[in-house]
Amino acid sequence: MIVAATIETEERTIVVFDCPGCRYGHHVNVRIPEGSRDPLWQWNGSLESPTFTPSVFVNAQNLGGYPRCHSYVTDGKIQFLPDSTHHLAGQTVPLPQYD
Ligand SMILES: [Zn+2]
Repeated sequence: MIVAATIETEERTIVVFDCPGCRYGHHVNVRIPEGSRDPLWQWNGSLESPTFTPSVFVNAQNLGGYPRCHSYVTDGKIQFLPDSTHHLAGQTVPLPQYD
């Protein structure tokens, strides 16, 4: 089952997956232009059982009525750390099918 997709441009590769905690997509840069200071994740190359390191931290400031979301994505499962503010904080669940 495919749980993530790539967005490729000349300079970047971004992997996107649907977050079951936030119920919207999260994007991680896995290739960025040389010299860029943008955050960069290591990725195992899989769209079925992706692993990203380090953790994915979305909306750390808890702005806009959206939850703060802090997770580790490992082998297609997403482990939400307790500092997440949505209903899956502290839980580990499979990533949903990406479509
Ligand atoms: Zn999330």
